[in-house]
Amino acid sequence: MPDTIAAIATANAPGGIGIVRVSGPEAFGIARRVFRPKNRLDWEGVRGYRMAYGIIGIERDSGLEEIDEAVCLFFRGPGSYTGEDVAEFQCHGGPLLLQEVLQAALDAGARMAGPGEFTRRAWLHGRIGLSQAEAVMRLINAQSEQALRAAHGALGGALAARIAGVREGLIALAAHIGAWTDYPEEDIDPLRDGEAETVLKEAEGALAGLIERSKGAQAVLEGVSAALVGRPNVGKSSLLNRMAGYERAIVTALPGTTRDTVTETVRLGNLTLRLTDTAGLRETEHPVEKAGVERSVAAMRGADLVLAVLDASEGVTAEDEALLAQCDPDRTIVVWNKVDLVDSPRRYAQGNWRAVHTSAVTGDGLDDLARAAEGICQTAGFVPGEAMLATQRQAQCAVEAQAALREALCALAQGFAPDAVSVCLEDAVQALFSLTGERAGDAVVEEVFRAFCVGK
Ligand code: GDP
Repeated sequence: MPDTIAAIATANAPGGIGIVRVSGPEAFGIARRVFRPKNRLDWEGVRGYRMAYGIIGIERDSGLEEIDEAVCLFFRGPGSYTGEDVAEFQCHGGPLLLQEVLQAALDAGARMAGPGEFTRRAWLHGRIGLSQAEAVMRLINAQSEQALRAAHGALGGALAARIAGVREGLIALAAHIGAWTDYPEEDIDPLRDGEAETVLKEAEGALAGLIERSKGAQAVLEGVSAALVGRPNVGKSSLLNRMAGYERAIVTALPGTTRDTVTETVRLGNLTLRLTDTAGLRETEHPVEKAGVERSVAAMRGADLVLAVLDASEGVTAEDEALLAQCDPDRTIVVWNKVDLVDSPRRYAQGNWRAVHTSAVTGDGLDDLARAAEGICQTAGFVPGEAMLATQRQAQCAVEAQAALREALCALAQGFAPDAVSVCLEDAVQALFSLTGERAGDAVVEEVFRAFCVGK
C-alpha cells in the first residue's frame, strides 16, 4: 500500500495564496489531525469535491496550535488528480508559513513527496499518460503564452492520440501478417498488393512530419539560447533593452562598456530567447576586455542563434569581418542596427547571410528580426495545440520507430519476407509504446519524473 505524501504545491515565493497538498490513503486522517473546521464536518463520511473553512495548525497534546486560517479541499480517489484521496490546504502564501503547514502534515504522519511524485502517482493510477505527465511539467515551466497553449495541447493528449493512431495501423498490419504466416490452414486472406507498403509509408510519413516539427516545438517550449555579438557601440545593449522592454544593460556612448556578459530572457516573435549580450568581439590587449572577448566566443559556440550586430551608419569594418568569420551562417542573423541614421540600407556582400535592418532607437525592423529568428529556429509554422514531440526523449522514440519502419520498407522492397517485416514492425510498435509510456521501462519513467518540481 502506498504511503501518504505531502508537499507545498505552489511556487516558493510570496503569494496571495499558498497550497499544501497531501495525497494517499491517510490524506483525510492527516487533515483531521491538523485542521479544525469552523462548522461541523462528518470526518468519517467526507465525500469528494468538498471544502471546509477552518484553522490549520500543529497537533499538540494541549490541542491545536494555530498556524493560519485555511480552506481544506477534499478529493476522493480515484476521482482526484493523483487517483488517491487528496486533501489540499489553501492558506495565505508565504514560504515560511507554508513550511510550517507542511511540517504539521509531516508530523501528523505524511512523508515529504519526492520531485514529481504527485504526477507520478497520477500516472500510476492511469489518470494521465506519460506524455501528458511530461506536459504537466511543461505547464509548470512554461514561459510563454505559446508554450503554455502547446503544453495544454499535449495535456489534452493530442500527441498520445496521434501516436495511438499510427500504432494501431501497424499493430493491425503485424497481426494480419502474423495470422497469415502462422495459420496457413485457417484460410486467412493474403495482404492485398501494396497494402503493407501503404500502411508502412503512411506511418512513416506521420512520424516524419512530427520529427520535422519537433525542433521548432522544442524551441518554443524550452526556449533558445542566443548570443548578441558585435563591436563595441554598435547597439547590442540597446537592442537587448528593446527586446526585454526595460533598461537592463547599461547603455552608454563609450565603446567597450559592456565588458561583462548580461543574460536576459526576452520574447522575440514566438520564441523565448535566453539572450547573452557579450563584450565587443575584438582583438584587444586590455586584460578586462580580453576576458570579455573570450566569453563572446564561448557564448557564440553554445548558442542556437547568433545575432551579429553591425553599425549601418559605419558599414563593415575589418573587426566586423573578423567577427563574421567566427559565425556559422546557418545560425546567424546579421543585424544592421542604427538604420535610422542612414538613407539607404546597407548589404553585406559576402556569402549567404540572413540580414535584417533595425533601429534600437525607433524599434524599426524588430519584426523582421523576429521572423528571421523564427526561420532559423524553425518555429515559423508552429501551431500551439497540435500534436508535437515536445521533449528530446519523445523525439528519440519517434526516430527509432521511424528507422524500424524504413527497415521494414526495405525488407518489403527486396521481396516480401514476412518474418523480417514482422520483426521491424514489432520494433516500431515498441518504440511508439515507449513514446507514450504505456510500456515504458523504469528508466524512462524515472527520467520523466526526475525533472519534476516537488509538489506537482
Ligand atoms: P553596445 O556597446 O553594442 O552595447 O552599444 P550600446 O547599446 O551601448 O549603444 C551605443 C550607442 O549607440 C548609444 O549611445 C546608443 O544610444 C546608440 N544606439 C544604439 N542603437 C541605436 C540605433 O538604432 N540608432 C541610433 N541612432 N543610435 C543607437
